[in-house]
Amino acid sequence: MGENLNVEKLKASVTGEIDAQRHQLSELSLKIHANPELGFHEVKATTWLTQYLEEKGFSIERSICELPTAFRASYGQGKPAIAILAEYDALPGLGHACGHNLICTIAVGAAVASKLAIDQFGGSILVIGTPAEEGGGGKIIMADRGVFNSADMAMMVHPEVYNAATNRALALQSLEVEFFGKAAHAAARPEAGINALEAMLNSFAAINSLRQHIKSTARIHGIITGGGEAANIVPAHSAANFMVRAEDNTYLDELKQKVLNCFIGAATASGARLEYRWGKIRYAPMRNNLTLARLFRQNMQSLGRRMQLFNPNSAFGSTDMGNVSQLVPSIHPYVAIAPKDVLIHSPQFAEAAASEAGMRGLVDAAKALAMTVADLVTNSNIATKVKKEFQQQND
Ligand SMILES: [Zn+2]
Ligand SMILES: [Zn+2]
Repeated sequence: MGENLNVEKLKASVTGEIDAQRHQLSELSLKIHANPELGFHEVKATTWLTQYLEEKGFSIERSICELPTAFRASYGQGKPAIAILAEYDALPGLGHACGHNLICTIAVGAAVASKLAIDQFGGSILVIGTPAEEGGGGKIIMADRGVFNSADMAMMVHPEVYNAATNRALALQSLEVEFFGKAAHAAARPEAGINALEAMLNSFAAINSLRQHIKSTARIHGIITGGGEAANIVPAHSAANFMVRAEDNTYLDELKQKVLNCFIGAATASGARLEYRWGKIRYAPMRNNLTLARLFRQNMQSLGRRMQLFNPNSAFGSTDMGNVSQLVPSIHPYVAIAPKDVLIHSPQFAEAAASEAGMRGLVDAAKALAMTVADLVTNSNIATKVKKEFQQQND
């Protein structure tokens, strides 16, 4: 009973602290929105974010993991060490059409408010600044370089068009393929040529057939990036980029081989030589920690925001948070900032990321994160439960 009272009082003070920061957070978020920077080049965003955290008493390490725009800010020394992740990269041509200006201000707002919890009950808060989520896999590089070893759990909130406490991100690996054939006059000596473009088209046909017989959550998609020089020359070279995605790593490996077989078959049929390279960065599937997800949902709901644990209609993307979730108990919930018909990665979503609804999402998400920190530091059983669930998923 006493503990309950304590945590409710603490939650009231952390949410009050977010309200007190509201103006500053919204300005910071709008400033980052107005100055979009591509992955690994988020110089202004990281300068402003680390300045904000430093002014509020956090210790800052800049350019960690040999990445100029990665950072780590920390407050407190004790356990649990709770990491809140900040993304801040924008999209080419579209600016903040994924709303990462909100993700990072949610993170710093929540972290600063969480100081009240840490001061009273111990534990520590880390803000990990993770560059280049959009295709660069910043968190994957940082995970390989050990930045999450010091964290007991990791949380971040992503804007969307719905509220959901969990995420269904797929494992993903990209593939580059090339066929090498033999040029010849396409009319005078077609029999002397080896057609690298036909090899590519046959690969697409084989993959289209394969797609009928894969699990419904898997994805295979590609584009042709090279297909010949002129219609009267038998194409001696063709090239394509593909992405293969699946709900788990085992199925991804199985699917990768099946996709590769489509290219090998087309090479055999055409006589063209195949070269291929799998992408170095492999996105892991998201492993949602349901103990954390339920806490976060409860806190969001207490703010009057309806939130599902799972959204049955959620999209199947991939995120480098998946790789973090394989290392430490993690959540990557979604907060709605736009009507359902708005598409993420569209100009309308970029607008929403600077709108009043975007600011409401920022405030609610920052509050719910800080309240979740309050739950974690006031009751050590919860942190234990989070850890236990993670270990059971590992078995
Ligand atoms: Zn995105
Ligand atoms: Zn995003």
